Amino acid sequence: MSENAQQGTQPEETAVDVLIIGGGFSGLCMAIKLRESGMNSFLLIEKSEDIGGTWHDNRYPGCACDIPSHLYSFSFEPSPDWSRMYPGQREIHDYLKRCVERYEIASNIRLNTRFHEAIWDESETVWHAAAGESMRIRARVLVSGIGGLHVPHYPELKGIESFSGPQFHSSNWNHAVELAGKNVAVIGTGASAIQFVPQIAPRVGKLYLFQRTPPWIVPRMDFAMAEKWKQRFRRFPLIMRAFRQFIFWRQEFRVLGFLGNRFVRRKATEIATHQLEKQVQDPKLRAALKPNYELGCKRVLVSDDFYPALTRTNVELVTDGIAEVRGDSIVTADGVERPIDVLIFGTGFRATEPLIGIRLVGRDGLEIHDAWRERMSAYLGVTVAGFPNLFLLLGPNTGLGHNSVVLMIEAQVRYVMSCLALMKRQKKRVLEVRPETQKEFVEDIHRRLEGTVWQSGGCRSWYQDPRTGENTTLWPGSVVAYARRTKSVSPADYELT
Ligand code: NAP
Repeated sequence: MSENAQQGTQPEETAVDVLIIGGGFSGLCMAIKLRESGMNSFLLIEKSEDIGGTWHDNRYPGCACDIPSHLYSFSFEPSPDWSRMYPGQREIHDYLKRCVERYEIASNIRLNTRFHEAIWDESETVWHAAAGESMRIRARVLVSGIGGLHVPHYPELKGIESFSGPQFHSSNWNHAVELAGKNVAVIGTGASAIQFVPQIAPRVGKLYLFQRTPPWIVPRMDFAMAEKWKQRFRRFPLIMRAFRQFIFWRQEFRVLGFLGNRFVRRKATEIATHQLEKQVQDPKLRAALKPNYELGCKRVLVSDDFYPALTRTNVELVTDGIAEVRGDSIVTADGVERPIDVLIFGTGFRATEPLIGIRLVGRDGLEIHDAWRERMSAYLGVTVAGFPNLFLLLGPNTGLGHNSVVLMIEAQVRYVMSCLALMKRQKKRVLEVRPETQKEFVEDIHRRLEGTVWQSGGCRSWYQDPRTGENTTLWPGSVVAYARRTKSVSPADYELT
């Protein structure tokens, strides 16, 4: 990392062509592509002490990706060395660190620098950004690689302030807290909890898992990559590409189930039900774990070891709602009080409010939270009317429930690069999406969402804006369709000045 960052002596004023916020997959991809294109005047700021984004923050036991890494990695930087189909957090984090070295972007990265605000200056046609303790950055172009899953969601629980033991969120795991022999409460049964519950269950004294809604879970079928296959991948990159393609199409096929194909959804439901019946013999526990909404409505989880962990004698699945938290216990709605030493929140993120805590002021003083008062939206999930030269990566309605989001990130970065090329070609300084283009796009997205399982599957999920119930996070289509849509920029969609 740059000397300035290491010594903590950042300059007060910096001017760059492109300011990138966030050092996760999105921000790093943007930085790499700028470097490759010879645009070297860019700065990437990252709030944490290391790059990695979600793969730096989330270090809970068992943390791994639920998409195989041969696909959940950059297409331009395949790795033959993945140890497993679903390697853990550390391996993915190391991969990203290798990318930083290989593409020589470290000197453009400032760590420990939290982004606070950016204000568009119409007269100078630049963004004035504030970050870190006292850093001021003038940037012609602003790229947000903030992503959607980084602001932890803490449920409002009566009496939580009186709890005297350690408590932490899965994305901020406190490894200093000893769990061995303790009474541990885990709230939530989402993608994170189903990964760490099997890891901690054998260690703790008693584990109380508070479930509000059971998830649909399909087999993960993880396996170690044999050495001979790694060698083949090294010697014959084409085989590795073919493997990636195989995983891609296997995942891509699943979108049909989400979009309304009953056959695909029925098959997936059968697979998930079979796994539940095979792994859980106790009819009461089985019934408590059986979802009562359509598969796909919430994120479909993958796990081979979650159900077996719940059959342990020291694990209790609690399905009664939490009525109150006391100094050293939790009381449920049925009046039962359970003694608790440690409380772990596996309660997810505020996915529909990704820009919470930061200020983005566009043309005519328009604040992004005001622009998104009714719903968060962006053209192709990337550009927002009223916010010139601003590009969002993994912005509204570009998350996926079926495939690798890294593919979406790459498509978006390609799109941003073609916007920058268009500006250069036409010798323009400012690019802003036309409001009518954005409106038409967003209306189309929401029309397409209507028939999907996310809207009509009989559940509430983090995909939906809690205020309106609208899905403002997922792309209602295939990755192929999104890549086609963002392949190049259409000048007619933008005001270029
Ligand atoms: P999540 O899927 O949103 O799960 C949150 C859990 O907390 C749900 O079971 C939810 O129940 C429960 N909950 C929330 N508020 C509650 C309350 N007041 N009382 C009781 N329970 C409550 O969160 P997550 O597990 O952290 O995962 C979030 C997303 O991160 C995933 O969907 C995925 O996209 C990503 N992720 C990915 C991976 C990966 O492998 N790639 C791993 C981890 C996370 P309800 O269902 O009833 O709301």
